[in-house]
Amino acid sequence: MPAILDIWYINSMRLFKLAGFEVKLDWSWIFLAILITWSLAAGYFPANFPDLDTHTYWMMGIIGAAGLFLSIILHELSHSLVGRYYGIPIAGITLFIFGGVAEMNDSPSSPKVEFLMSFIGPLFSIILSIILFFLFQLGTYYVWPAPVMGVIYYLCMINLVVGVFNLLPGFPLDGGRILRSLLWWWKKDLRWATSIACRSGAGLGFAMIILGILLIIQGIFISGLWMFLLGFFLQNIARMSYQDLLIREVFQGECIRKYVKTNPVTVPPHITVQELVENYFYHYYHKLYPVTENGDLIGYISFNEIREIEKDQWSTLKVSQIMHKCPSDMVIEADTEVTKVLQIMTTHRIGRLIVTDRGRLYGVITLKDIMNIISIRTGLNTSKTDNSH
Ligand SMILES: [Zn+2]
Repeated sequence: MPAILDIWYINSMRLFKLAGFEVKLDWSWIFLAILITWSLAAGYFPANFPDLDTHTYWMMGIIGAAGLFLSIILHELSHSLVGRYYGIPIAGITLFIFGGVAEMNDSPSSPKVEFLMSFIGPLFSIILSIILFFLFQLGTYYVWPAPVMGVIYYLCMINLVVGVFNLLPGFPLDGGRILRSLLWWWKKDLRWATSIACRSGAGLGFAMIILGILLIIQGIFISGLWMFLLGFFLQNIARMSYQDLLIREVFQGECIRKYVKTNPVTVPPHITVQELVENYFYHYYHKLYPVTENGDLIGYISFNEIREIEKDQWSTLKVSQIMHKCPSDMVIEADTEVTKVLQIMTTHRIGRLIVTDRGRLYGVITLKDIMNIISIRTGLNTSKTDNSH
């Protein structure tokens, strides 16, 4: 399904604002924070910095996890700042179970911007790692306490891992975006560049799944499971990103207006539910109808409202008593971009929207209509740019 941009928004909670960007936390991160703290306090620190007490290990674990959290926010912030410098709108930064993401609402504008925006993240993480390395050397020289040294050492290593891992050349990792920008710059073909970078991302994901399974077989269960899940996730995103690009390409800046079915079947507000079911639902088999009075859109009625009403009330209840009044989320203007409409449909899980033209009822658009256009356009390999009508 399209509109991958929305998968991140699910269940996220607002934390704070940083440099004007909203920082959000997906609930999955809380689970991850506990897991990281525990694995640091019970595994990593005792193994690498022995002879400290349990309480100290837990303190180190909490500070280490917080440090990782902050490192990832700063990594995403670096992407966002470069994006903002080049005028790419960034909705916010969300941390989720596999890391962070700077939410871009638009496709990158040029290979150069995409390259700089992607490259800054890993570069930032690696520079941060180098700074922490020098801090560690300084600590060794002045004999700082072992817990402090432990946390610095861990953050130095983890930032190096974050930087290097994200340089792997598979979309949607930063390295995959760098690869795409270079290919795009070379052949001036964003679709081709994206398809290669996404295929590389899917391959990388597949390799990680295999590696994960091998680790699990060898008894390295936790790391293997993480590797498996991350690979699975990467593979999915890589595939969806390409579809998303195709859709954006098909509809480049187009409004929904020309795809809307005009003169939709409308329902008057004064009829009973019984009449509505018999004369509309059992006649046209649409799941949603605009309700109009003297040509003005006053609301809509859908299958869901009818289902909740007892059958013996059908003959007495009127449409006007149970309809949703406008304005509503189910109503969009005819000038809305198609990609935006798709986004609304997928986030709210609705297949049918009412379209208005400056407040007046214009028509109805369904997800099925849009999917048909996509499959015909992509099947014939044409987009708005290469057929001129
Ligand atoms: Zn990054």
